[in-house]
Amino acid sequence: MKEVVEQIRTKAKELLSEGKVDCVLGYKKGTVPMQEQPFCAYTPEEADQLTWSVFCTNNLANFLIKNTGKTAVLAQGCVSRNIVGLIKENQIKRENVYILGIHSPGMVDAKKVQDKFPDKVIQEAYLEGEELVVKGKDFTEHIPHRDVKRNNCYTCTHRNAVIYDEFVGEQGKESGGGNIDKVAYPWSKLDPEQRWEKFQETFKDCIRCYACRNVCPLCYCDVCFVDESNPQWCGKGQEETDIYTFHILRAFHCAGRCTDCGACESACPVGIKMRHLTSMLEADIREKYDYSPGLDLESVSPLSNYSQNDPEIE
Ligand code: SF4
Ligand code: SF4
Ligand code: SF4
Repeated sequence: MKEVVEQIRTKAKELLSEGKVDCVLGYKKGTVPMQEQPFCAYTPEEADQLTWSVFCTNNLANFLIKNTGKTAVLAQGCVSRNIVGLIKENQIKRENVYILGIHSPGMVDAKKVQDKFPDKVIQEAYLEGEELVVKGKDFTEHIPHRDVKRNNCYTCTHRNAVIYDEFVGEQGKESGGGNIDKVAYPWSKLDPEQRWEKFQETFKDCIRCYACRNVCPLCYCDVCFVDESNPQWCGKGQEETDIYTFHILRAFHCAGRCTDCGACESACPVGIKMRHLTSMLEADIREKYDYSPGLDLESVSPLSNYSQNDPEIE
């Protein structure tokens, strides 16, 4: 990882000092352990703050929307797929982004790491080979990387950037190894009543902070339907109906567009697994339309398109 970080900084300095871009969007060390934060370097000096680790869980495509200057952006597989989606939806101009493609080793879920050390304060964690080294005041532990990955990273199908101007570091293994269709499997096999119970159980603790929406690069509406007052689609309180309306409608707005980047689940303060819903819709899109979002700049998303031969979805 250290060599890749050096390469990112060197490349960023080069692009900034040659005036090829106005800024370089990447990550810098977070103010708390295991949480890097999105960061924009505007000068070669600031580029020294750029970093790359298994804790880069925010989706940087979200920060490119309606951007007018020229931005270099660090993009692993899912982020690059969202950039493709945003170019197709006319939210980003291809000529305004310089994509620094990168391979993702599979991001780590900080909550899973903390759960392994419930009574300890973790001060530092980093990847060393196949292990995560976790350090605190009086301890150093090694845990397998595979045990603490974010759920979406197990079933990732594109770890290398799918589109880029330059690639930083080496291209690596493409798949997370798991089968994405199995994520949706438990719900899709349930009858409607059981499915509704599962849905209620999954979303019952939602506090409607909207962090999942705010970090999602698909959610760029000037006024989200939940904030509309005329007509008011959704109440503002904690009524179950309003919570469920938010999640069902948001999932449908993301259908055929979601890259399963996992940023929404990573951002949720109460640990809600909203991918159980979105990944099921994406499984339908794959099965019925043979389509996966963000893989090329030409194809049109099935739900933005109409053909008389479209399959029926019950
Ligand atoms: S981030 Fe979690 S708690 Fe906040 S609105 Fe989304 S699901 Fe609900
Ligand atoms: S939930 Fe729907 S309306 Fe709200 S920002 Fe996302 S896409 Fe737009
Ligand atoms: S819905 Fe979640 S997983 Fe899908 S693109 Fe948005 S943040 Fe990523």
